[in-house]
Amino acid sequence: MLEAAEYAATLCGSFRFATSDNRYDVKGLLALAEISDSENPIDEDSFYVVSPGGAIGFCEDGEVIDWLILSDAAPKEDLPLIYQAVPQIKFCSKCGASVAHGARFCGKCGIALRSKLSAI
Ligand SMILES: [Zn+2]
Repeated sequence: MLEAAEYAATLCGSFRFATSDNRYDVKGLLALAEISDSENPIDEDSFYVVSPGGAIGFCEDGEVIDWLILSDAAPKEDLPLIYQAVPQIKFCSKCGASVAHGARFCGKCGIALRSKLSAI
């Protein structure tokens, strides 16, 4: 969770717990994340997601998101309840040729391809 917390801290400066009135500043959030990581490490199929506003959610099975920490910067943010990965590039943006999943360069025209997905 620490990585997610560090990323969220770049988006927002104060947070609150989704299920209580507990509030956290950046320092408190990072301390909470560190404790969570050492006491409740997540398994390989689970991951954390960070919203554009800085809210932190926990995705246990790769689908349903449990939003744990809400951002004070965007309290009314519309948070998705289902995780949807940003689609990977399947076609070259320059020449339109189909490219292999995970390819970094187009095999036809050679342009560098970049995935839009940034995992936490
Ligand atoms: Zn191409």
